[in-house]
Amino acid sequence: MKITNFFSPNYDKKKRAPNLVKMIVFHYTGMQSERESLQKLCNSNSQVSCHYLINRNGKVFRLVQDNYIAWHAGKSCWGKYINLNKNSIGIELVNKGHQFGYTSFKKKQISSLIKLSRKLIKKYKIKKKNIVGHSDIAPLRKIDPGEKFPWKYLVKNKVGIWHSYKSNFLKKHRRLKVLTKQDKKKFIKNLNKIGYCFSIKNTPFFIKTIKSFQRHFRKELINGILDHECLMIAQNLTKKL
Ligand SMILES: [Zn+2]
Repeated sequence: MKITNFFSPNYDKKKRAPNLVKMIVFHYTGMQSERESLQKLCNSNSQVSCHYLINRNGKVFRLVQDNYIAWHAGKSCWGKYINLNKNSIGIELVNKGHQFGYTSFKKKQISSLIKLSRKLIKKYKIKKKNIVGHSDIAPLRKIDPGEKFPWKYLVKNKVGIWHSYKSNFLKKHRRLKVLTKQDKKKFIKNLNKIGYCFSIKNTPFFIKTIKSFQRHFRKELINGILDHECLMIAQNLTKKL
């Protein structure tokens, strides 16, 4: 695939070993334009970058080489990994984001993303569950790439994980069913198994993690409330891990 090289100075100057790459993190740029995004990601004052940026037409730019640590994830956690810059490849998709008019990602953009991701998965032997969105690893601070990100479609193309849970009940019912303490415990266990890091004692953290989970796996209702459907989806996901 064709990749256009750019240069961002926002990375650790010390090289990393290829076997440190365990994850792929997807972002949206959340800015008015592609030009503005590239300028920011390549400006030393911003202190942010990524490895790849994919524009609306599916053109791929490389800003930082894979064997350097780019600054894209910030304070974050997934499974046993903490502060994921050192363990991940960061991919930015041009999209105005929630702040400036969030729109669907373009077909060409997503097909480039799939091609690039599959190449990286193969090269670094990345586990499917370690392909995540920024909001999954930093739920307190981030909501990108957002609910319009086509996770299900990506999984059809072997990128990431998805569930096969289908309910026979009316949606309203499965969402209203009251959960027991045991249910809640089970849910947390399953989320931890997938990779989400959170504690039940920290209520804002808990609510935002539920929201991140919903944004990723149940985009039809993102309310931060743990319901029966969330429980079943989490259970179904962990069966496949
Ligand atoms: Zn991000």
